[in-house]
Amino acid sequence: MGEFAYVAPATVADTVAVLEEHASAGKRAQVLAGGTDLLVQLRGSDNEPRTIVDIKQLDETNRLDIGADEIFIGAAIASAVLYENEELKALLPGLLESSDLIGSTQIQGRCTIGGNLCNSSPAADTTPAIIVDSGVCVIATNSGTRELPAEDFCTGVGTNVLAPGEFLLGLKFPRPGAGTSDAYLRFIPRTEMDIAVVGVAVNVTLDDTGTCTAARVAIGAVAPTPLMVPAAADALIGTQVDDDALAAAGVRCTEASSPISDKRGTAEYRRKVVAVLCRRAGAIARDRAMGVS
Ligand SMILES: Cc1cc2nc3c(=O)[nH]c(=O)nc-3n(C[C@H](O)[C@H](O)[C@H](O)COP(=O)(O)OP(=O)(O)OC[C@H]3O[C@@H](n4cnc5c(N)ncnc54)[C@H](O)[C@@H]3O)c2cc1C
Repeated sequence: MGEFAYVAPATVADTVAVLEEHASAGKRAQVLAGGTDLLVQLRGSDNEPRTIVDIKQLDETNRLDIGADEIFIGAAIASAVLYENEELKALLPGLLESSDLIGSTQIQGRCTIGGNLCNSSPAADTTPAIIVDSGVCVIATNSGTRELPAEDFCTGVGTNVLAPGEFLLGLKFPRPGAGTSDAYLRFIPRTEMDIAVVGVAVNVTLDDTGTCTAARVAIGAVAPTPLMVPAAADALIGTQVDDDALAAAGVRCTEASSPISDKRGTAEYRRKVVAVLCRRAGAIARDRAMGVS
């Protein structure tokens, strides 16, 4: 394992200061949430010396608020803690099932959805769900906080918009109203503990007649970053989210994807699977929004 120093600042301001000091001195500092990506990286090829900056002592990153209008999930809250929250599971079932897919029980006891987003893998399971649930990144800066829609956060494979000195405090979501729900599905070659070959998240809002009035669709593992697919959402809006609409949305996902071929699947295979998962996830989100599942 590479050499590292460890600090656990007590305040957000101190955390930003440590990160900034390192950046201006040309030294490497890296935020630690659950460590399930970071420690693997430190033991592998990315083992140059650094200071690890633990954000788990901060009040803000441990905050979980389920308010009348808004939900806030702090960046230090482990996946398992989210999944055990029945109110949150009822409000954002797709997001919670995506975080419950990460690794094993042991990994879920440590890993965070903020770490999944900040690691910025194209195959991150929770990122498509965060995007379709209209997640907003709350980012700590040296002048307070700034906010950014989650779909604008990742900039490439393993890269994101965070500037030196900044870190993710947490994610904000609008509290879903009646008739709104989400779903996330991924395909992996094994039954668990593998990286998504394709992932698709869908969020729909239905009116009293079952007509879709709003939708968001996002795809993972089929482009350099998780991608929102507005054309797929447009194929659902104004419909009953029936088989034809879901098939059209699936085609839009295929068109938006630009996958690579690797040992888990060819690009052609991924383009087909993304359409299938869009149809299935869309049907699950629809049924949940109608209260029938
Ligand atoms: C056995 C195993 C199985 C896995 N299975 C899956 C899987 O099925 N699906 C999947 O998507 N991932 C999987 N992962 C990867 C990993 O568990 C997830 O990406 C996890 O969500 C990372 O969260 P963390 O809190 O542990 O992040 P950390 O490891 O603490 O951090 C990850 C990266 O993000 C940065 N970071 C973390 N939090 C912040 C923050 N608040 N602000 C700024 N930067 C931050 C860190 O500096 C680091 O670069 C697996 C990992 C292992 C070891």
